[in-house]
Amino acid sequence: MIISSRKNNEELLAALDGAERVFLVGCGACATACKSGGEEEVFQMQEWLEAVQCDVTGSVVIDEACHIMRAGRDLRHHKQAVEDADALLVLSCGAGIQSISASSDKRVIGGLDSLFLGNIRRFGQYEEKCSLCGDCIINDTAGICPVTNCSKGLLNGPCGGMEEGRCEVDHEIDCAWHLIYERLKKQKRSGVFARTVAPKHWDRRRKPGRFNIKK
Ligand code: SF4
Ligand code: SF4
Repeated sequence: MIISSRKNNEELLAALDGAERVFLVGCGACATACKSGGEEEVFQMQEWLEAVQCDVTGSVVIDEACHIMRAGRDLRHHKQAVEDADALLVLSCGAGIQSISASSDKRVIGGLDSLFLGNIRRFGQYEEKCSLCGDCIINDTAGICPVTNCSKGLLNGPCGGMEEGRCEVDHEIDCAWHLIYERLKKQKRSGVFARTVAPKHWDRRRKPGRFNIKK
């Protein structure tokens, strides 16, 4: 799930920059789960906009705002309200914001910051486990990603600053390499420690990403 959070009022006011009529867009998927862009947050945003003298011409919560075709279809269902607006204020991750900007020539304002791809610990508690590097090495690291979980993203073992299993950069978190070592030991495998990991193929990260399941 993409974790996102609302921009603060100051940033939003600066982004609105003269837009007096706004059409609001939320996302029924990740932004709803993060409580940053679901129905409730769209409604709260509407109240806030009205308090700062900005008219809301209408609103929609798209099932998955990152779905480009669906976003276009839902905007067409609100054609007049979109037409009446100076700008579309979108409460979704950056992918959703760009679905909207691909579907309308209107000015598009992002109301959220996209933070990371998050695992859900429990509702409202999210943790980054994978940074989508495109060249996954966790088969050799006992299912623990050092690219993401090691504060320095080291590929070949610990930095030497670990203290009692805690990371030297942030004592609140476990040292990823300590976890990898302990888990490999339990599995009676040498895993990544049996070889030298070559410098990462960052070119495999595919920016911008493209993947067609039919090919
Ligand atoms: S190695 Fe790359 S793809 Fe695999 S979990 Fe880590 S960041 Fe994600
Ligand atoms: S202490 Fe461990 S997790 Fe922290 S930077 Fe060093 S190797 Fe990475």
